[in-house]
Amino acid sequence: MKVTIFGTGYVGLVTGACLAEMGNHVVCVDVDASKVARLERGEMPIYEPGLEPIVRRNHAAGQLAFTTEAAPAIAHGQLIFIAVGTPPDEDGSADLRYVLEVARTIGRHLDRYTVVVNKSTVPVGTADRVRQAIAAELAAREVQVEFDVVSNPEFLKEGDAVADCLRPDRIIIGSTSTRAVELLRKLYAPFNRNHERIVVMDERSAELTKYAANAMLATKISFMNEIANIAERVGADVELVRQGIGADPRIGYHFIYPGVGYGGSCFPKDVQALERTARDAGYQPRLLAAVEAVNCDQKDKLFELIERHFAGALQGRTIALWGLAFKPNTDDMREAPSRRLMERLWQAGARVRAYDPQAREETRRIYGDRPDLVLCDGAYAALDGADALAIVTEWKAFRSPDFARIRAALSNPVIFDGRNLYDPATVEEAGIAYYGIGRGRTL
Ligand code: NAD
Repeated sequence: MKVTIFGTGYVGLVTGACLAEMGNHVVCVDVDASKVARLERGEMPIYEPGLEPIVRRNHAAGQLAFTTEAAPAIAHGQLIFIAVGTPPDEDGSADLRYVLEVARTIGRHLDRYTVVVNKSTVPVGTADRVRQAIAAELAAREVQVEFDVVSNPEFLKEGDAVADCLRPDRIIIGSTSTRAVELLRKLYAPFNRNHERIVVMDERSAELTKYAANAMLATKISFMNEIANIAERVGADVELVRQGIGADPRIGYHFIYPGVGYGGSCFPKDVQALERTARDAGYQPRLLAAVEAVNCDQKDKLFELIERHFAGALQGRTIALWGLAFKPNTDDMREAPSRRLMERLWQAGARVRAYDPQAREETRRIYGDRPDLVLCDGAYAALDGADALAIVTEWKAFRSPDFARIRAALSNPVIFDGRNLYDPATVEEAGIAYYGIGRGRTL
């Protein structure tokens, strides 16, 4: 099938590559000319495991093209996906300016029946607004062209995006148009072979499903962080509690890890946007507000532990950070807990030596060159001249470190383990003080 995708970010590029891999002809459009030029040269603008070979192979085979030109791309696609960003607006609502700009662009060029598929995460009612934006442009051109707008939210996880896209848990198709649903069923048939994954529903339910999924996941994290905060006040170990509750299949072991709070481009903005949607509809969302408040405080957790350990005297100290990305297997730094930690350390007069397997360039892009940040090219290099070590992202490479080497390198051997990667007894036996999240009495 012929597919056009607006936006070559985490969602658009991965979707385009996976659809091309299944034999479709995909054209990806982006307004960012430098991104398009890099993709044309076979360079990935983002780090996502397994993405590069699929993009290169399909680009070389002529199945996947990149362009900044909207008109020929719109002429190409029977299905046109919108996969552009929906960042938070000042009031927490989703900023739809990019989505609606794409809708207007489509309306300016559409000349035959097309299905416009919205993959961006957008508030309930956006399919109507996209439809109106396209219709207004068609009316201005005084042409009549049939089209459908479908809500097809994306559930891929950064760091696992290619695998998620090739083997989705579910494919939500939000539309009441039989014609549009049939086309999407055909497009997704290769991803739907061994069992039924497609759930068809109305647009509004599809739009809300995406927010509900992210809000539920964010709730699980904030819930466990709340339990961790109770655990450390009452002398319990949240890691044992986690295993104890996870054994109940109604709860399960997934996604109940306490830590330094959730980040990334999705959970923070989507929880806020859902809160906004609820308020606009006349409902006060108590749970969502609490999920966000707990997360906001949790992002200060490591800093507070570090500050307390050094009795507030952080001026001139050097803290080593292992992990900068908001989670492992990505270079994404959006809303990453490491950012809050580094910014608070700098405010307190401390220096940071940091190592992340992928997010170094992104960190440099955000913070530039500054004397109180050294981006190191190895985990142990980050310890040189450092007083203490903080674990911020749970990359696999940090799971079994050489504790003797850590002890020897740190002037004040202490680990602040923001991801509960280590057994406190093992660390302490190695002669290193240990602080985790919710592990026994630290308050
Ligand atoms: P992103 O910021 O990585 O990429 C968005 C891309 O859209 C950018 O390359 C930008 O240049 C491009 N763009 C903006 N305006 C454009 C226009 N008019 N025409 C063409 N391209 C344009 O965003 P992302 O992380 O891929 O997220 C996209 C959407 O998908 C968001 O709504 C997000 O909430 C949602 N989503 C993201 C994830 C994720 O893990 N990142 C998962 C599921 C859903």
